[in-house]
Amino acid sequence: MFGLYIHIPFCASRCIYCGFYSTTSAREKGERLSVEEQYVNALCHEMELRMEKDDDMFGRKMTGLSSIYLGGGTPSLLSINSLQKIFQTIDKVYHIGLEWNKEDNTCSTAIPIEITMECNPDDVTEEFAQNLRFLPINRISMGAQTFSDERLHFLHRRHTADEVKNAVKRLRGIGIKNISVDLMFGFPNETLEEWNDDIERLLALDIEHISAYSLMYEKGTPLFRLLQEGKVKEIDEELYRQMYDTLIDRLAKAGYEQYEISNFAKLDVQSPKFNIQTSKSKIQSLYRSQHNSSYWQNIPYIGIGAAAHSYGNGKRSWNVADIKAYITAIQKNRLPSEEEIIDADTHYNDIIMTALRTCEGIDLSILPAEYRTYLIRLAKPFQQQGLLKEDNGKLHLTRNGIYVSDSIMSDLMKV
Ligand code: SF4
Repeated sequence: MFGLYIHIPFCASRCIYCGFYSTTSAREKGERLSVEEQYVNALCHEMELRMEKDDDMFGRKMTGLSSIYLGGGTPSLLSINSLQKIFQTIDKVYHIGLEWNKEDNTCSTAIPIEITMECNPDDVTEEFAQNLRFLPINRISMGAQTFSDERLHFLHRRHTADEVKNAVKRLRGIGIKNISVDLMFGFPNETLEEWNDDIERLLALDIEHISAYSLMYEKGTPLFRLLQEGKVKEIDEELYRQMYDTLIDRLAKAGYEQYEISNFAKLDVQSPKFNIQTSKSKIQSLYRSQHNSSYWQNIPYIGIGAAAHSYGNGKRSWNVADIKAYITAIQKNRLPSEEEIIDADTHYNDIIMTALRTCEGIDLSILPAEYRTYLIRLAKPFQQQGLLKEDNGKLHLTRNGIYVSDSIMSDLMKV
């Protein structure tokens, strides 16, 4: 099994907190084709090149595509022609069995896999939603971030709070049954009441999946500069904790399963396996992100596009983070990527940093004996402090542990 990630590095404008690689040049004209057209041609050719190479990491030996994720940047900026071209190539290379349903004029795949596209809410116009029917996409991930127009303006987001609501309505109208929305908390001067209001407005959308993150001040971003210049102030630790507590409790009450530190998926509350008293279910939510879960479960993935990362067969590789250099190399039939071998210590550290983020935690039985013994020894003090817990051979963070997860993970890693 493996996941396929396609990176679309175009944005209409840049948000002040964003550290992802993207540019605002998609519609610029090259000599003959727009940057978007050249880039999409390169994406398609990269998929073919990787298949032709037939190496031990990305070649024909990779079988069993389990999820596809179009991320960015802003994939919803691409034209329908570009998106169709990408899916036709995915079908040609990875055999997903693209099918047209003549009755309702829709597109799907013969193999039932999760296919996600990230969208900006203001891109989801009626025309865009109708065009989605011609693509096999069955999951949409949207960055709402907040329902306060003032805070959206502060972030330099292009959309308004109302546009998120309209986008969800349009997506439901064309039959999208799996929608994820991103939300942020911990804005400068944000109060607990305002955060409560954002959560309630999110829940009113009745979506299947929620990702919630605290506002990060990443080095190199305009937001980081504002912090350094003293123009904004981070919220204090106590308020951050109250906000996160509110999030976890309110989403549990609304029937969402927290399956990862920042990710929540809707449970079937009608099922007899759902316990109304504890807000917990004996079965996992159907709406956990399959693609992101594969990152946390150490499943290989292929990343296509500028700045995309790949992982598999004991190696990690990354493409050049420069659109022009990427396109030029691919046009010359060259993969513009560097790679590193993942040694045993790095592999162990990767497991700590990924699996420990999930509610199931680290399956101790998958670790080689030497690493299992090492981890059990280092985990003991954290277990005694109630920050880690072992259940059925799996080591996971407790709720108190989540607040100090970064420092626990770094203490458990091999240096
Ligand atoms: S739209 Fe997304 S990728 Fe683009 S700048 Fe904003 S946060 Fe970053």
